[in-house]
Amino acid sequence: MQFVPWRYIADWKCKACGICCKAYSVVISFQEWLNIVKNYGVEATVSGINKLYLKKRSDGSCIFLYNVSGMYLCGLQHMKPVACKLWPFKILTTPKYGFANEALYFLGGNKFYIYADSNCNGLVYGQPTWTFATETLKEFVEIATGVRRNQVKSTANISLLSFPGLYDFRRFSI
Ligand code: SF4
Ligand code: SF4
Repeated sequence: MQFVPWRYIADWKCKACGICCKAYSVVISFQEWLNIVKNYGVEATVSGINKLYLKKRSDGSCIFLYNVSGMYLCGLQHMKPVACKLWPFKILTTPKYGFANEALYFLGGNKFYIYADSNCNGLVYGQPTWTFATETLKEFVEIATGVRRNQVKSTANISLLSFPGLYDFRRFSI
């Protein structure tokens, strides 16, 4: 994987391709583990050395990933782990992946370094748009710092009209 500083990214929108939910193991916090176990049982999780993970199917995909009419959607949207909410961005306090000037981001007087994983299909490279720089990244930083939980810009914008049979849309969105 390669990390790209945010100033080289024009925009990002999740395309619900599901790549990230197949390629990576999701690390969850103890509180997230507790909530998931209460609702889905301990079988929905896996424990490793000092870490807890969401369980994967034999094909490598997350057990909460659903294919709905060719779009890969999250069935854990109502309690989606922070690691999933932040993907594909890394919000750091040090320039871990280099390009410090290009990764530097200020919010509320605080300094962050933001990179994106180039494996995500939703990245568009170029000069950052105003919306991406001031709204989308702000939301990612707020989620990373625990200021907000709900997602607007940081998740797929999938119209309910696309899936009229779904009784609770909030449960099915990347
Ligand atoms: S975050 Fe990126 S890789 Fe993951 S489903 Fe959306 S577009 Fe695909
Ligand atoms: S976004 Fe949802 S389906 Fe994808 S890895 Fe996270 S919990 Fe699983």
